[in-house]
Amino acid sequence: MATVIAKNYVHGEWRDAAQQFESVNPANRNDIIGTAPRSTAADVDDAVSSAKHAYESWRELSWVKRAEYVDTFAQLLRRDIEEVSALVTRECGKAINEGRADAVEALHMAQYVAGLGRMPNGFTISSEVASKDAFILRKPKGVIACITPWNFPSAIPLWVILPAILAGNTVVFKPAEQTPIVAHKLQELFHEAGFPAGVVNLLHGFGEEVGDPLVKHKDVAAILFTGSRAVGKYIQQVAAGDAFKFAATEMGGKNATIVLADADLDLAINACLLGAFKTSGQRCVSTSRIIIDRALEPEFSRRYAEKVAKIKIGDGMREETFMGPLIEPGSIEKWQFHNAKAVEEGAEVLVQGEVLTDGDYANGNFVSPFVYRFDGYKKNTFCLREEAFSPHVAIIPVSGMEEAVDVYNDTDYGLAMAVITEDYRKWRWVRDHAEFGLGYVNLPSIGAEVHLPFGGVKASGNGHPGAEGILDSVTHRIAFTVNHAREIVLAQGLSTTI
Ligand code: NAD
Repeated sequence: MATVIAKNYVHGEWRDAAQQFESVNPANRNDIIGTAPRSTAADVDDAVSSAKHAYESWRELSWVKRAEYVDTFAQLLRRDIEEVSALVTRECGKAINEGRADAVEALHMAQYVAGLGRMPNGFTISSEVASKDAFILRKPKGVIACITPWNFPSAIPLWVILPAILAGNTVVFKPAEQTPIVAHKLQELFHEAGFPAGVVNLLHGFGEEVGDPLVKHKDVAAILFTGSRAVGKYIQQVAAGDAFKFAATEMGGKNATIVLADADLDLAINACLLGAFKTSGQRCVSTSRIIIDRALEPEFSRRYAEKVAKIKIGDGMREETFMGPLIEPGSIEKWQFHNAKAVEEGAEVLVQGEVLTDGDYANGNFVSPFVYRFDGYKKNTFCLREEAFSPHVAIIPVSGMEEAVDVYNDTDYGLAMAVITEDYRKWRWVRDHAEFGLGYVNLPSIGAEVHLPFGGVKASGNGHPGAEGILDSVTHRIAFTVNHAREIVLAQGLSTTI
């Protein structure tokens, strides 16, 4: 396949940088998908200045007019959906049905945002004084930095970029360094859709070299970050240094599926297969803990381990593949570290994951799932609290719903929780006592839809979810009051008598 030479995109022009870096297929490290510019702080200055300039006229358009640009983009994305799906799989390794799901989710976001342009973006509200009209309105913030991870390389950028520009902001997009070619393709579509120069700017490169100066830039009003807890926390701290700067940070998880004593076991097993091993466990919402009632655990563990051993691992481009490679060799080391830690902490290994290096696996970052049983739950156990972001799954037997939720809550994270039960009273209690931002009943812990907010609580997110939720992060909600009388009458009974 042809190698793509990705470029930066600033003020409506494709631009290079002095140095490039390669995008490598994680299923075959000999397959160089393309190269991308290794941007620097000087490129950040140019891109922010382009966005700042474009903001002056972009904000003057109506929401409907801006939504029409997004609608054109949506139509182009629909035309190229198969190309985007294949690029997602080739660049980040996930199975092609997931590559397609990523691209379809990106398309859904574009369709949703195009429709939002004709929906109310503020409302009138009664004033205490009859002669006044009060309004609550949304105003754009200015230049917005969108910094995104590699694991949903088409969907997550659109969750944040499209609502930002719909609301009248302009954007500097910094995609993950592992997936620049998908980002380049999205930018080609923005270009073809005819957005005015400077509305969406793209800078490729590494976190410290381009992400950091972007976050710190004085003309960046808001940062929409999705990625690891460490980087998100750092970005929150940087933003806190400037009173005007806002950061929405969506971060990692140590998600769980809770299987209660009355659960449908077949459904529980399927939910835990999908939740744990799609994207090879590299979803922020991946199930890495199965917290299960003791009554069901022996049969569940036996049948689950049998199924896990049959998972088809391979190049995501093959339709039969269920689980692709890890994103990079460093992820294999991280997975090995978490596995070793589990054994050291007392795990009973049920499925001994291995690094796969023979035959078709020789040039990829392939591992098989690691599944263990952890009986005798202890608080503060590293392997049960920290994100492994890989096919690393603990089965934790517990006695009853209340212990299940106690165990669930014993992590700093609070992203996704699924509960498998037939009892409506039980799922309601779990919903109200488990700490999460995304909850599911009789489903896996994965399965976002763009018209719902996507975010976590505790260390998983700082309260500003993506997708449906992001409009609140990219706009100031202003109060605006108009007096229709000749005299001034204020609320709370203040008068103008001197
Ligand atoms: P990462 O934090 O390493 O990188 C994310 C982005 O931040 C990349 O674009 C990277 O270049 C940039 N970055 C790195 N250092 C930076 C710095 N100092 N300043 C500014 N930008 C910087 O994360 P990743 O490995 O790409 O993604 C995996 C992580 O993302 C996991 O923890 C996963 O759970 C999380 N994630 C969260 C969500 C969510 O919505 N909550 C969704 C997907 C992934």
